[in-house]
Amino acid sequence: MPEKIIVIGAGIIGASIAYQLTLGGAEVTVLDQATPASGTTGNTFSWINANSAATAEYFKLRHAAVAEFRDIVGQLGVEDAARWGGSLTWHSDPAETTAEQAHLSGMGYEANFVDAAQFAALEPAFADPPERAIHTREEGGANAEAVVAALIAAAVARGATLMSGCAVTGFLRNGERVVGVQTAPGEMRADVVVCAAGPQAEALLAGADVRLPMANKAGIIIQSAPVTPVLNHVIWAHDIHIHQRNDGRLILGEIYSDGLPDPAELLARMRARFKGVEIVTERIMHGVRPIPVDKFPVVGVPHGAPGLFLASTHSGVTLGPMIGKLAAGEILRGEMSPLLSPYRPTRFN
Ligand SMILES: Cc1cc2nc3c(=O)[nH]c(=O)nc-3n(C[C@H](O)[C@H](O)[C@H](O)COP(=O)(O)OP(=O)(O)OC[C@H]3O[C@@H](n4cnc5c(N)ncnc54)[C@H](O)[C@@H]3O)c2cc1C
Repeated sequence: MPEKIIVIGAGIIGASIAYQLTLGGAEVTVLDQATPASGTTGNTFSWINANSAATAEYFKLRHAAVAEFRDIVGQLGVEDAARWGGSLTWHSDPAETTAEQAHLSGMGYEANFVDAAQFAALEPAFADPPERAIHTREEGGANAEAVVAALIAAAVARGATLMSGCAVTGFLRNGERVVGVQTAPGEMRADVVVCAAGPQAEALLAGADVRLPMANKAGIIIQSAPVTPVLNHVIWAHDIHIHQRNDGRLILGEIYSDGLPDPAELLARMRARFKGVEIVTERIMHGVRPIPVDKFPVVGVPHGAPGLFLASTHSGVTLGPMIGKLAAGEILRGEMSPLLSPYRPTRFN
């Protein structure tokens, strides 16, 4: 069993892997060029879901990950960092909503239609409900920063070392094998190096001649000051993505690729849905989604670099705890989960 492991990145992926590695008895050092959850994980929407899975295999992984997320917040004693109200989703084109529901229920997911009256009963404060939406019960919204803080604290309590402000600039090799990292303070050696550098992974790995093609995508999140409970579900529609955390904050998300949306316009969209509720912006966040080019996770040992383990994915808040558990099992005990077999980095070589 490898004993000494370096994890690059203290986002939800790196923090989850580090925590699970400490549970397995490894000596873990987590290096982050900034601070835990200062990257994408601190600037994310945090819908915990199995909704947007293009294939049956990916659905299986995401579905298992939703259950794992529930387990981990319980295990860490931070149940408040997730709210499990389910989700309500729809598209601007009702035919797409119908196709989506068929896709989800075809994979065995409990995803049922609700009409406008049923929607209004589920979400009485939400103005202008759609004629038809898809209702799922298992999903939720999270406070990903709080989950990362708890994962890192639990890892450190089990002997892990966290080095914030420590950027990895390169990899040490012994022949093909990766045997450590180069950082500003100096060289650090390990039996295994885990790269969980989020959207920066492609550039960092290129320096080690490891190919991880990514098509990252920006997003903006508006976090409101706490308001009284007005929303039970995660809402994901063409014109609004929103959920309310247990701390009362509304989280409004928007994906963009052609120019930054106007935050004032987004806020107006949110206010229009909750008439009579005074919504004040507390924080505007800009995040970069780490997206492997084929849109599926990348987890495992890349070609030509034994000793290195990659973990990069979009939907990483949902998938983080599950990837952490599976990655640790593989690194420490050689357990190769079938859930990960479609997502090996060797597919890019
Ligand atoms: C707007 C938006 C909405 C999203 N919505 C959802 C959603 O609803 N549900 C969902 O599941 N996912 C969602 N995601 C995706 C999810 O947030 C990410 O997949 C996840 O946060 C990625 O976590 P990570 O740990 O891989 O990356 P990060 O959180 O970016 O962590 C990587 C860490 O590595 C560090 N690092 C980078 N390079 C180096 C280096 N050279 N040396 C040392 N440290 C380094 C960084 O400082 C950073 O802390 C969303 C993302 C965005 C931007």
